[in-house]
Amino acid sequence: MTLQERLQAIYSRMEQARDRGGHNQNICLVAVTKTHPAAVIRNAVDAGIGHIGENRVQEADRKFRELPAEPSPVKHLIGHLQSNKVNKALLLFDRIDSVDSVRLAEKISRKIQEPDRRIPVLLEVNTSGELSKSGFAPEQTEDMISILELPGLQVEGLMTIGPLTDNKRAIRSSFARLRSLLEEINRNRPSDYPELKTLSMGMSSDFELAIEEGSTMIRLGTALFGPREPRI
Ligand SMILES: *Cc1c(COP(=O)(O)O)cnc(C)c1O
Repeated sequence: MTLQERLQAIYSRMEQARDRGGHNQNICLVAVTKTHPAAVIRNAVDAGIGHIGENRVQEADRKFRELPAEPSPVKHLIGHLQSNKVNKALLLFDRIDSVDSVRLAEKISRKIQEPDRRIPVLLEVNTSGELSKSGFAPEQTEDMISILELPGLQVEGLMTIGPLTDNKRAIRSSFARLRSLLEEINRNRPSDYPELKTLSMGMSSDFELAIEEGSTMIRLGTALFGPREPRI
């Protein structure tokens, strides 16, 4: 199957999941190109992909150099960002979808010098409680809301990685939890702060469940590009 054919199949599964869920949301598809060479990013962009995700700064740096200036996809950082790589990440990426601590948010805020620049970010929440995952605990809503006060960031929503299990109920409840957290944060945000609208949830194995639960952004690697290659 060509990438174009895989995309068509995915778009129709997305649409069906959206109909089942009844949230009527727009959904952004982020193509996760980690471990794949720059040529894979170029092909994806040629196939009409407008958003790509990478999870490591150094790998992205190497690959993005090989991309033509135009057309340029929106580049999402989706992995844990070490504080010594914030500067580089801000040069490479258009947005950071994996802000997983107040400390990191503060660091990003300090590094943004231009008074009018606000980098779009998502706050990552560990909805499954799995120790291997980073992110805010769902109970840390006050910490998450405190980030809305920082200059230089525009918090657009939340991100989570579903639990590593076949149990659909557990996966679904993790996504439903993220949706209710978004509502809670919106209820308690400063009155002049734009509504948080993005729910980045759903990967190759669980994107349909996520869309049924209201996901507005899915992150697909394997479903688009096949199994990941050894780290380059
Ligand atoms: C790798 C990765 C994905 C994509 O995973 P697939 O299962 O290959 O679709 C999505 N989100 C994050 C944060 C990732 O690291």
